[in-house]
Amino acid sequence: MEPPEWTILRCSSCSMCFGRRVGNRGRCTRCGVLANDSTEVVSHAMNVEQLQREIGLANIPEDLRAEFIEKMQHTSPIHSHFEDDSRRLKECLLRAAEDGKVSTESVARSLARMNIRMDAINLIEMSYEQGLLFKLSEDEWQVLD
Ligand SMILES: [Zn+2]
Repeated sequence: MEPPEWTILRCSSCSMCFGRRVGNRGRCTRCGVLANDSTEVVSHAMNVEQLQREIGLANIPEDLRAEFIEKMQHTSPIHSHFEDDSRRLKECLLRAAEDGKVSTESVARSLARMNIRMDAINLIEMSYEQGLLFKLSEDEWQVLD
């Protein structure tokens, strides 16, 4: 079995969960605090789809988590669910673009419009990892697709 490619960590400063690729330092996508030896490891993921699910799950308040898991289980087959998900997330990203650029604010608005419960910065981070975005400045990304 291959070792997991990603580690999901909980930020010691703001408690948000974020993914760290093996071999990388890891930095909170919300407040920018670097991961260190005392950073809590929440779980691991083998690929981006799993990472997305694990982070989504980890960032959901405890009382809503059961509902979320149930929702995930009722969507089958699981594989096409993830494909649908990533297509939907990509659409969300494209809708957020103004002149081909997105910001956390425009992505957050787009997520809200499409009823997707996810942090804008998580979607941006994930899209960036997948090569869909090019970072222009601290809060501005160019959509590459
Ligand atoms: Zn943080």
